Amino acid sequence: MGIIVLDKDTAEQIAAGEVIENPASVVKELVENSLDAGSTSIYINISEGGKNFISVTDNGKGLHRSDLPLAFTRFATSKLTSFEDLSRLKSLGFRGEALPSISAVSRVTMTSRPENNLSGAFITLAGGKVIEEGETGAPFGTMVEVKDLFYNTPGRLKFLRAASYETSRISNLLTETALANPAVAIELKSSGRVLFRSPGDGNLLNAINSLYGSDTVESMIPANLADKQGGYALHGFISAPHLTRSSRKWITFIVNGRLIKNATLVNALERAYGDYLPSKRHPLAVIFLTVPPESIDVNVHPAKTEIRFQQPEQSKNLVFRAIRNALQSSARAASWPENIQKYSKQDHVTLTGRPEEENQNDLFSAAAFNYEKYNAVNNPPQNIPIARETTLPAASIEQTSASECRLIGQYLNSYLVVQNNNDLILIDQHAAHERIIYNRLMEDNTGKLTTNSSQLTIPLTLKIPAKWQHKIEPALPFLKKLGFDIEPFGEDSYAIRAVPFMLKDNADNEELFDMLEKITDIETESAVEQMDFTRDIVYKTIACHRSVKARQKLSYSEMEQLLEDWQKAPRAFFCPHGRPTTIVFKRDRLEKSFHRGGESS
Ligand code: ADP
Ligand code: MG
Repeated sequence: MGIIVLDKDTAEQIAAGEVIENPASVVKELVENSLDAGSTSIYINISEGGKNFISVTDNGKGLHRSDLPLAFTRFATSKLTSFEDLSRLKSLGFRGEALPSISAVSRVTMTSRPENNLSGAFITLAGGKVIEEGETGAPFGTMVEVKDLFYNTPGRLKFLRAASYETSRISNLLTETALANPAVAIELKSSGRVLFRSPGDGNLLNAINSLYGSDTVESMIPANLADKQGGYALHGFISAPHLTRSSRKWITFIVNGRLIKNATLVNALERAYGDYLPSKRHPLAVIFLTVPPESIDVNVHPAKTEIRFQQPEQSKNLVFRAIRNALQSSARAASWPENIQKYSKQDHVTLTGRPEEENQNDLFSAAAFNYEKYNAVNNPPQNIPIARETTLPAASIEQTSASECRLIGQYLNSYLVVQNNNDLILIDQHAAHERIIYNRLMEDNTGKLTTNSSQLTIPLTLKIPAKWQHKIEPALPFLKKLGFDIEPFGEDSYAIRAVPFMLKDNADNEELFDMLEKITDIETESAVEQMDFTRDIVYKTIACHRSVKARQKLSYSEMEQLLEDWQKAPRAFFCPHGRPTTIVFKRDRLEKSFHRGGESS
C-alpha cells in the first residue's frame, strides 16, 4: 500500500486518543477549562463511571455564541498566541486540543452564557461534526455534557474498565484537583449521589478535611519554606509519621498550580521522612511548589500531567529541606491536637512529687537512672563536658508548659503509667528514652558528644558483604567526622578501632553492622545530605544503645526522671524511628467503658 493522507475523521480520532484515554481524561480537560475560566464552583455529574454521561457545570466567564464553534476547532485556544508565551503561561490549558478531541469521540453539547449577555447559546457535536447550534436560556457560566464516550471508536471502548473503576479514577482525579484548588468549590455526583464536595473557602486544611476526613487533618503538619532569591517556594501539609498509607496515591504535588506526577519529588519527600516511615508505607501530602516559570517545560505530555525541570536538584532539595524541617519542628504538636490546646492554655508545669532543686539541664540527667547494664562505663557520662544551653528550644516550650502529670507506676517493667490531668497515659520507657537521648544529641551544637572519639581496647572486626563494599569506602570520611575510626582489614572485613564516645561501652558487632547497613543504603549525591543522613543514623544507633530497655525494672525516682525528661522533649510522642512512645486513654472514653457518666459520677 502506498502512502495516503488519512481522511479528516480518522486523523481526528487518532489525535483524540492521545488526550482522551478514558472518562477521567474528559473530566480532567473539562474541569481544567472551568478553572481557566475563573470559576469558583464546579459541579461534576457522571453516570456509569462517565462512560455514558459526564457533565461539568461552572460559573466561569463563559463563551459567546460566535466562539462556540471555534472552541471545538483543533488548535483553537484563547490562552496562547505564540510559542514563547508557553514559558509565561498561567492557564492549565494551552494546546487547544481538548474540546475537539472530546467531540471527535462522543456526543457533546456545550451551553454557555457570559455574565454580560442576556441569553445563552449552545452547540452540539457528534463524532466531531456540528449537529445543531442556537440560542437558549442558561445561567451564567458554562455547562458541557458528554454522552456515549467512544461510541464511534469501538477499539477504545473495549479498553474502558468497569464503571466502578472508572468512577474511582474520576474521584481520585477530582480529589487532587480540589486539593490543588482550595478556593474553588468542587462537587462530584455519581448517578445523583454526592461522592464529595469541597468547601472552596480557600483554606487548604478545610479542603483536606472535606476529602480525607477530620482524623486525617488532625495528623497533618504544615510545611513551609521559601528560597526567595531563586524564586522557589513550598507550602503545604504532610502527615505526621504515625499516619501512613500503603500506596503513594495520597501524595499530591502541585507545581505552579498544575497537578503533576513526578517521581523525583515524591522520592525527595519520602527520603526526608527517612526512618520515620515504616517500610512499604507512604506519607500523605499536599505540596504546592512555586518555581520560576521559565525553569520548567509544561509541554512534554499530551495530558499535561508531567513537566520537565531544567534544574531538578533545586526543587528536590527544597522539598527535602522543607519536609525535614516540618517533621523536626512539629510532628508532635500536630499529631496530638487534643493536647495542643490543653498545653497552650496553661503556661506553667506542675510536676507532682518532684524535688525542686534538681537540675535538669544536664545532658545526662537521664543517666541518673541506674542503667547498670548499659552505663557500666569507665567514664560516667556525667563527666562529659557539655555545652548545652539552659534555655529550651522553642519547639519544646509548649510541651514544657504541659498540664499535670502524675506518675502512678510501672507496668510490665516496660511502660510508665501516668495520670495526665484526667487522662491515663502509658509511656513506652525505651521508646521515650530513645527520643530524649536522640533529641539531646541533635541539640548538641558543639558536636562534642559524638565526635569525641574513644579508642576501643580491642578493635571490632566486621565482615562486610561484597555488595556494600563500594558504598562503605565513600561513607568512611563522614563516619570519621562523627568519631568512628574504621579501616579495611583483610579482604572483606573492616576493623573498627574507635567509636563515638557514647557508643564506647559494649558497642556490639550487631549494632554496628545494622548501622553500617543503613548507611550504605543512603542514596544521595549531595555531601551535605550524606552527612545529615549519616549523622541521623549514628544518633539513632546511639539513642537506642544508651536508652533504658523494655522489661527493665526502674526505681520510682528513675521513672520520675524519665517522665520529666519526656515532658520536656520535643516530639516526644514518637521515638526517632517514628513509633509512638505514648498511648492516651481519654477519661471520658475510659469511664464510659465502665458505664459511668464522667465528671460527676
Ligand atoms: P485549551 O484549554 O487548550 O485552550 P480547549 O479545547 O480545552 O483548549 O478549549 C478551547 C477554548 O474554549 C479555550 O481556550 C477557552 O477559550 C474555551 N473554553 C473551553 N471551556 C470553557 C469554559 N468552561 N468556560 C469558558 N471558556 C471555555
Ligand atoms: Mg483546555
